[in-house]
Amino acid sequence: MLNVRLIWGRTAVHLVKGDITDQDVDALVNAANSTLLGGGGVDGAVHRRGGPKLLEECKLIRQRDWPLGLPSGEAVITSGGNLKAKRVIHTVGPIWRGGNSGEASVLASCYRNSLKVAIKEGLRSVAFPSISTGAFGYPIKDAARIALQTVKEFVEREGRPESVVFVLFSEEDAGVYRDIISSM
Ligand code: ADP
Repeated sequence: MLNVRLIWGRTAVHLVKGDITDQDVDALVNAANSTLLGGGGVDGAVHRRGGPKLLEECKLIRQRDWPLGLPSGEAVITSGGNLKAKRVIHTVGPIWRGGNSGEASVLASCYRNSLKVAIKEGLRSVAFPSISTGAFGYPIKDAARIALQTVKEFVEREGRPESVVFVLFSEEDAGVYRDIISSM
């Protein structure tokens, strides 16, 4: 069982192995797809446990702001529906195409834009899954480096939010995150 805790600037950072939909945080981040209408992996779990209200809010955001779908790297926010988390921040990771199609900068934007939305809404604790490393095929080591480095730079610069949790679904992914964070 893994549970790493450290401090970046004024932000407490935790790595945990678990299910992101169990997290009791102000906001959890959903690794959505551009339709915002649900899918597999994290997205499936978030909508299953979040309930129909979440889907309705996502449909409204599509109609109102993103009729063609939410572009990769952007983030939008809904309520938490039936989740313990108060709010859900939906972001769309890049699909891995070999690494020369701007994947790294889009993935960094996912983390940065999610945190921007969180602090704009006054949210103090945020949980992230490992965006893009499931169905979207991003290699875990590269993705983990980007996730950790991007969040570190953001929270050190902004002094917010108060806490960030990285929730890893497998022991293997958790080990990758732990190795990288311990060398930062
Ligand atoms: P993407 O489409 O962005 O790749 P996925 O949801 O397919 O997103 O996978 C992203 C990562 O989240 C993968 O490492 C996957 O194993 C993990 N994952 C899947 N379900 C959950 C969950 N309920 N909680 C946390 N992580 C999850």
